[in-house]
Amino acid sequence: MARKIEIDPSAGVCFGVEKAIATAEENLRDGKVVYGLGEMVHNDQETGRLEQLGLKTISTDDLDRIGPARVILRAHGEPPSTFRKAAANHIEIIDATCPIVTGLQKKIRKRYGEFDKDREQIVIFGKQGHPETIGLMGQTNDEAVLVTDPGKTGHVDPRKKVYLYSQTTMDPDQFEVLKANLEAFAATANSEKPQSLCSICNQMKRRKPELKKFAMTHDYMVFVSGKHSSNGKMLYEYCRQINPQTWWIHSPGDIDPGWFSGTGSSGETGRAGGARSSEGMGSTVRTGGPGKAVISQSSEGPGEAGSTGGTRRSANSGGTGSIGISGATSTPLWQLEQVRQYLADLITD
Ligand code: SF4
Repeated sequence: MARKIEIDPSAGVCFGVEKAIATAEENLRDGKVVYGLGEMVHNDQETGRLEQLGLKTISTDDLDRIGPARVILRAHGEPPSTFRKAAANHIEIIDATCPIVTGLQKKIRKRYGEFDKDREQIVIFGKQGHPETIGLMGQTNDEAVLVTDPGKTGHVDPRKKVYLYSQTTMDPDQFEVLKANLEAFAATANSEKPQSLCSICNQMKRRKPELKKFAMTHDYMVFVSGKHSSNGKMLYEYCRQINPQTWWIHSPGDIDPGWFSGTGSSGETGRAGGARSSEGMGSTVRTGGPGKAVISQSSEGPGEAGSTGGTRRSANSGGTGSIGISGATSTPLWQLEQVRQYLADLITD
């Protein structure tokens, strides 16, 4: 019986990133030079694909060097200083900022224009150095207080009322922790209750429950994301909590056929590199032609996956060896399909 290999129906890039990629593709069609300010998506393979179509990725400093040109802004958005720099250099901006991010920037800018600096403060929950956070902080002339860890609120002034916002891709559970911490903080200092706007995108809020549902129904999970995707790291770790037999890969070449031996292998992964031999793993790998291998289950008991972990089987394992494939919000569906095809070619029960 063929082993079930399925792609998570809720996976794929979010609509904001999808729209930005489509804008880049559309503008590359006429063959003229188009620059992209920063990587369009935190995914080396997708960025590489767009660069092959002709997109040239540049940094903000490059805006002073490229002369009059067309520059696409990615879904994460930019601070006002970028628009000023572009205008000063006669650069045509193609603004592919996600409309949700644009809306959030407007709200923060409005609040910044109205608030009383002596009595109030704007707090942004986001990742240090993340392009969206840079864009949000820019709406306040970088005067907002950035909190990256809900447990570390040391820079927040307890005497001032807090207006709390969030980068759209933060973890909703962590946002709730921060909100509760800031409320407790305000109560202790007898200051006004914080006003919180949970500006985390609904696509992000849905992602964890959907991933949980999917990961619970498969014996093994292969999680695909770019090495630098913080969303990918967070979702991979969450997926692994749900299903300990989760492997994190960046491309099909990272896959080790021994992972799916049905022997309760380690969940340790995230390594780059080609497939290892699965000798001694309770399964045998037969070469099935160039670049292919076929796994057959051993009737002997659990073996070691040649890793540091002990035997860990998914609590939900039905013994069918089904493999689920999922990814970050920056992992395009074509990449998941590539992994599915690779696994289908590799594995035959
Ligand atoms: S996560 Fe949501 S808000 Fe952020 S870019 Fe994607 S669609 Fe837009």
